[in-house]
Amino acid sequence: MADHMIPATLIEGDGIGPEITASVVEILAKIGAPFEWDHQSGGLGAIEKFGAPLPQPTLDSIRKTGLALKGPLTTPVGAGFKSVNVTMRQEFGLYANLRPTRTVVPGGRFDKVDLVVVRENIEGLYAAMEHYLPDGDDPKGLAYGAGFNSRRECARIVRFAFDYAVANGRKKVTLVHKANILKIFSGIFLEEGRKVAKEYEGKVAVEERIVDACAMQLVTDPWQYDVIVTTNLFGDILSDLTAGLVGGLGMAPGANIGPNAAIFEAVHGSAPDIAGKGVANPLAMLMAASMMLAHVGRQDLSTRVDNAIDRVIRVEGVRTRDLGGETGTAELTKALLAAL
Ligand code: NAD
Repeated sequence: MADHMIPATLIEGDGIGPEITASVVEILAKIGAPFEWDHQSGGLGAIEKFGAPLPQPTLDSIRKTGLALKGPLTTPVGAGFKSVNVTMRQEFGLYANLRPTRTVVPGGRFDKVDLVVVRENIEGLYAAMEHYLPDGDDPKGLAYGAGFNSRRECARIVRFAFDYAVANGRKKVTLVHKANILKIFSGIFLEEGRKVAKEYEGKVAVEERIVDACAMQLVTDPWQYDVIVTTNLFGDILSDLTAGLVGGLGMAPGANIGPNAAIFEAVHGSAPDIAGKGVANPLAMLMAASMMLAHVGRQDLSTRVDNAIDRVIRVEGVRTRDLGGETGTAELTKALLAAL
């Protein structure tokens, strides 16, 4: 029972955001999820009102609640706005990006995939320290890029992955690196990862994989993987690859987690091409809400949501267009409510 309410920030977002958020909020209300929503704006609407896609009142709300469910935000191209994701990571030190991947639609080439990618979110090559250098006569003939990985952060992200494995009954963590070539830049991650892994000996198995081999194996044999932990750029690429294994963006939830805040969202964008048509798939955002329930200790409710998704998609075969079906957002929501 939801006798203890937890304040949480809710940003419905742009495009299909309001449609899928309405669906998710209705489902959460039905199961008595213990969230007390603080509605805040973000994206295009916020730009019109506050001049920024992630305005101060929204940031203040997240700082206060430490917990947010966020719909997709449209980022205007070339208008000079700083990326919403970068702003959030910096503001709240969201060092861990968590992307679970699970096959929901059965019978495809990648049936029964169930793995998690943990990506380091604030270091690596995404520090974007880059500039041009001259090459012969061309003053911009050469591009130089650099990044950094700290021992502290490498240890912290690997520990996050192992703790996640323990808390979620996962059996193995794979350290994904490129230390054979980048002996220092990627080597430091592997060194720290090995040290942290020792603390979990006997509880969670550890394995190491070079990132290119990992990418190939994720396509030839994704079932061998359980929890993958890796640095920023590798994690960015591999987590999109794994989303592709299980039906694409409409089925991919994600969480950005730091010591003082956690923000849950669907990985997809605002899908302006289908906005307002009532055909958007709300499942990625619902799965993000399920992760949020587990995060606040309500694994019971999280499991209920996951089971309802499985029932509706697997057993009843109710599917939105992106999954090859014909069901609209409202009908799918109705089916989920009934399954609960
Ligand atoms: P997108 O993810 O919005 O859409 C890509 C394709 O996937 C489209 O054909 C869309 O119809 C489809 N799709 C996406 N989500 C779906 C869903 N839930 N159900 C059914 N189909 C779905 O990517 P885009 O078109 O490149 O980006 C549109 C806007 O979203 C841009 O402004 C971009 O900056 C923004 N964006 C925001 C986030 C975020 O807030 N986390 C992430 C990615 C993109």
